[in-house]
Amino acid sequence: MYRNLRIVPYIIFGRGSYAQLGDVLRPRRTGAPVVFIIDDVHEGKLFIPKLPMEDKDLLLFVNVDVEPKTKYVDELTERVRSFSNRQPDALVGLGGGSTMDIAKAVSLMLTNPGSSADYQGWDLVKHPGVFHVGIPTLAGTGAEVSRTAVLTGPVRKLGINSDCTPFDQIILDPDLLEGAPVDQRFYTAMDSYIHGAEALRGTFINEYSRAYAETSMDLCREVFLEDLDVAAADEKLMIASYFGGLSIAYSQVGVCHALGYGLSYVLGVRHGIGNCIIFNHLEDYYPVEVREFRDMVAKHNIPLPREMTRGLGEHQMSEMIRVALSLDLLWQNALGPDWKKIMTPEKARELYLRM
Ligand code: NAD
Ligand code: ZN
Repeated sequence: MYRNLRIVPYIIFGRGSYAQLGDVLRPRRTGAPVVFIIDDVHEGKLFIPKLPMEDKDLLLFVNVDVEPKTKYVDELTERVRSFSNRQPDALVGLGGGSTMDIAKAVSLMLTNPGSSADYQGWDLVKHPGVFHVGIPTLAGTGAEVSRTAVLTGPVRKLGINSDCTPFDQIILDPDLLEGAPVDQRFYTAMDSYIHGAEALRGTFINEYSRAYAETSMDLCREVFLEDLDVAAADEKLMIASYFGGLSIAYSQVGVCHALGYGLSYVLGVRHGIGNCIIFNHLEDYYPVEVREFRDMVAKHNIPLPREMTRGLGEHQMSEMIRVALSLDLLWQNALGPDWKKIMTPEKARELYLRM
């Protein structure tokens, strides 16, 4: 059976396109509030007063110092519910991958009962969410186009994967990437490079995913191995992220992401930097890509933390392995149907100990 892939239906791309957000929202407005969910790192920035807000709208600055948790999503959903007895006309998420995932999840939880933790998994969402718009301010995760909202819940870190999850509209404005710290910009960008590597080396690969993955990786190479000016580079990164997301939408991620889920769940290591820490040790699985990754790290003097798992207790280590090995689809993609014979708990432990 082939998958019937739902993707984002409306996309605006270009410098300054953020100014068109008002036009996007206008036909959606019926008198109920519009909710703006914005990374609090942007509080006080010049583009905030330009938000097309009306009196009855709700602006929520969210904190993503730690990656989004189901509990936080549930709290935010309650705040939106108690703000108005009407369902919002639209919800806008503006920020990096974490903020976009929060926005996707809140949009779904406004129309589906229970806790967001109940929907972690595949195709558990019953009702379409509130019309949701995504506006990235970091490029790399592909969260702007993916059908998942990654959350850490009581048992695991796992996305809400469903056809209702993708944004109804995205606005890709490279101007909004300006000012991101150099290291963070690199770590997040490498997410799309790693998405490409994991798709291309995966057993689920097909021509659709291959084309997007190759283009995404080429754009990353241009940005980090050539000498582009930052403005040109940001435009390329925005598309690299989008293409990386499209590539894995029709394939799957692999070894690095599976181990990353464990690292993040137990040590709270963030997605971008965590992937970089792990990928650096995966030359057995992605030999050419890891070498090229190291060239990019060296050219940009990016710090990669080491000895992350040093002194880790046995309970934490086995939790990390449990979470990583629970991601069956990722391992199937990376190593094939018999992956359990290759990626044993002992092998996963050995890899973690290298980090
Ligand atoms: P992020 O959203 O976690 O943000 C990282 C840091 O950068 C935060 O401190 C944030 O406040 C800051 N930041 C964001 N934009 C900025 C800007 N323009 N200027 C200055 N600082 C800025 O980072 P990310 O790497 O974009 O996203 C990682 C998250 O995305 C993880 O939670 C991960 O689970 C999720 N993710 C989701 C998908 C998906 O398909 N849904 C895919 C990959 C990763
Ligand atoms: Zn990723």
